[in-house]
Amino acid sequence: MRIVVLAGGIGGARFLLGVRAYARRVGAEVTAVVNVGDDLYLHGLKICPDLDSVMYTLGGGADPERGWGRADETWTVKAELAAYGAEPTWFGLGDRDVATHLVRTSMIEGGYPLSAVTGALATRWQPGVRLLPATDDRLETHAIVSGGGPAGADGQRAIHFQEWWVRHRADIPTHRFVFVGADAAKPAPGVVEALGTADLVLVAPSNPVVSIAPILAVPGLREAVAAGPGRVVGVSPIIGGAPVRGMADRCLAVLGVECSAEGVGRMYGGRRSGGLLDGWLVAPEDGTVTVPAVTVRATPLWMTDETATADMVRAAVELV
Ligand code: GDP
Ligand code: CA
Repeated sequence: MRIVVLAGGIGGARFLLGVRAYARRVGAEVTAVVNVGDDLYLHGLKICPDLDSVMYTLGGGADPERGWGRADETWTVKAELAAYGAEPTWFGLGDRDVATHLVRTSMIEGGYPLSAVTGALATRWQPGVRLLPATDDRLETHAIVSGGGPAGADGQRAIHFQEWWVRHRADIPTHRFVFVGADAAKPAPGVVEALGTADLVLVAPSNPVVSIAPILAVPGLREAVAAGPGRVVGVSPIIGGAPVRGMADRCLAVLGVECSAEGVGRMYGGRRSGGLLDGWLVAPEDGTVTVPAVTVRATPLWMTDETATADMVRAAVELV
C-alpha cells in the first residue's frame, strides 16, 4: 500500500508518527508532502519550520514539550543576536537548530532545490517516511492586516505568517491570507508522481487554513489529489469545537469558517463535488457532523501517543 500524507508542522508531525507506526505494521510506503508557506529567511538563514518539525519529530530529535525545535536545546546564538540588537527578536533560533539552517542555506545557495536539501538532511534523521516539500519554489503565507505598523493607502499591510503568528499571536485585525508566489509554483519533484500512485491520501489534522491550504495552492497539486487513484481521507483538527492546541480558531475566523469539525469538513468539501475529501474522520463528540458527498466516521482523535494515532490511521483506511 502507498500512502501520501498532506501535513503541516506539529500536528502533521504527530500524525505522521502514527502513520509510520501503522505503515510498519502493514508494510506500507509513506510519502509526506509538507507545507512550505511558513518558510522564511532570518539572519541570512533559510528556515523551514514545518519540514523541521516533521523531520525532528520522526527522527527522534524534537523537543517533546515545546513541540517545535530540538531536544536539549541551548540558546547562546539567540542571546548573542539580541546583544547586537539584531531583529527580529521574536523568533526563537536554538543553537542546535541553527546547524540545520546553516546546512540548508549553504546547499540552497549552492543551487540545490529544497527537495534535494530535505533529502540530504533526512539522511541524518532517517524519518522512515519520504519527506517532500510541497514545492521547491518560493511560496510564502502572508496575512493582510490593519494596524501595528506602516500601512498602504488602504490602511492594510501584508506581514509574513510567522510575524502574524509568533510576534502578534494571531491577535491583530486580519482580512485574509495570501500565498505569495503560489501562482508560479510547481509541485516539487516526486509529489505528483506520489499522488498518481497512491492508494490512500491522508489530510493530517493540521491547520486547514495555513498548513493544508498553502499545499493545495500549488498549481497542479490539488488537481493531482482530485484525479489520483487514492481515496482521500481527512482527519479533523477540531475536536468538539476546539482546535486542541494552537490557534486554528483564529485562522478559521479570518475566513469566516466556523471552528468545528463540520465547518472544516465542509470547507474541504467532497471530492465528488469538486472538493477534496472522500472521507472525514471526526471525534466521537462530533459524531452528528455531516458533509455533503463525504463519508463521515467518528473515532477518537486525540494524538496522545503513537498507538492511539496509528488507530486513527487504521480507522481512515477502513473508512474507504
Ligand atoms: P503547525 O504547522 O506546527 O501549526 O502544525 P499543524 O498545522 O500541522 O497542526 C496544528 C493543528 O493540529 C492544530 O491547529 C490542532 O487543531 C491540531 N492538533 C493538535 N493536536 C491534535 C490532536 O491530538 N488531535 C487532533 N485531531 N488535532 C490536533
Ligand atoms: Ca506551520
